[in-house]
Order: sequence, then structure tokens, then C-alpha cells
Amino acid sequence: MKPIVKIEHNAYQKVMHWVNKSDFEVSGFGIIKEVKGNFVVTDAILLEQTNTTVTTELEASDILKAMRDYANVDGKMRWWWHSHVKMEAFWSGTDTDTIEGLGEHGYFVATVFNQHQKMRSAMRVGVPFNAFIDDLPTEIVMPVHPDVAEWDRLYAEKVTNETPSQYVYNAHKGTGLKPSYPSYGRDWNDDVWDSEDIAEEQRFSVLETKLEVSGELSDKEWAEYSDLANMDGSYNPNGAKWK
Ligand SMILES: [Zn+2]
Repeated sequence: MKPIVKIEHNAYQKVMHWVNKSDFEVSGFGIIKEVKGNFVVTDAILLEQTNTTVTTELEASDILKAMRDYANVDGKMRWWWHSHVKMEAFWSGTDTDTIEGLGEHGYFVATVFNQHQKMRSAMRVGVPFNAFIDDLPTEIVMPVHPDVAEWDRLYAEKVTNETPSQYVYNAHKGTGLKPSYPSYGRDWNDDVWDSEDIAEEQRFSVLETKLEVSGELSDKEWAEYSDLANMDGSYNPNGAKWK
């Protein structure tokens, strides 16, 4: 199992801001914390650099200075990121050489980004064994929004969940299936999905959330609705005014 590179949202935004800013390459480092066998990137660091459209050059002394500056933070400066601007997120020969060099005395994680929101991560370990592991799963960690409690309150107030008593599998010819399933759209026996007897659209009707509108609008309410929805009152998606 490969370790996951979990980039915290603030660090990702910072990197993508610099990546999207220019048609030149840009690169930097970042702080990594080791959490439960994964890498959590908590910050991105920009160093003085000279870039072209295809290369990015850093001074060794600037890298050392950054390591000193960040010596006391929670985590280690073991992440190297760079931009491929609009090119594919892949490793060039220079990139793999750079990663080999950075990871020579420990480990180093690298992620390459482009302006199409693509990214690719790899790591090199030099000590105590030598390994280059490519295509590490890479995730952006979203912060918990301060309004989550309010969203929960709205959900509790407005949403009623009902479990349908009959499932579409009843249409299955074999009927060798269990009479009920524990939850809607989940825990389905794989046999159900594998069965060719279940037509594609029947599967779909299980998973699809169908919008059902009940009740009717008066002509006056319909006119107001049409007006608010900025549509011609004659357009009516569900028959006559949802009637
Ligand atoms: Zn590159």
C-alpha cells in the first residue's frame, strides 16, 4: 500500500495560485507531517528562483536557509513541488534526477502540478534503503467549514428520509435473491450487479435520485413561479403545472 499525499487546502491554494499566475515554471518546497503512515502537506514555501518556461532553478544556499527558517515548525521540509504550466503532469529526466538528489539522505516527496488541475506525486527514499515510488495517491484536504453546524441544523429541519419497502430487484426473473436489502443503494449483493438479468436501466433506477414534486400550484402561483424562474409560463416540465 502506498502512502497518501494529503495536501491541506491552504497549501494547495497557495501552490495553485503561483502555478496559475504565470506561463513560466515555478517551484518550491513544503512542510510535511507524517500522520499514520501518510504524508500531510501543511504549508508551501516559495524561494528565490530563476525560471524559464521549461526550467526552474534554485540555489542550494536558499534551500538550506529555508530549512533553517522552518526548522522549528511542526513537520519537516521534505516536499518539493513544481509547475509544468500547461504541460502534462509527468516526471521529466531532470525531475527524477532532482527527486533522487533530494531524497538521497532520507526521504523526499515531490508533486508536479499543471494549470489543468492535474497533479502527480512520487517519493524517493535514500536511507535506510533505496526506493523510488511513483504515482502516490494525492488528495486535497478540505478544512471543516465554520458553518457546518448550521448546515446540520438545516438538514435535520428539512430532510425526511424514508426507506422504500420495495426494490427494483423484484423485477429480477430469478427471484433467488434475498427479499430485502438493508439500505437503499448500499450493501447490495454483488450478485445483483453481476446478474445480466438486471437491465441497465433497472440498475439505474435503483441508484438514481428522482425528483418528485407533489402538490399543485394555482394559476396565480404558477405565473409567479414562471416569472421568478425567468421562464415562459407555457413551459411545463412535469405536465400541467405539476398537476
Ligand atoms: Zn518538471
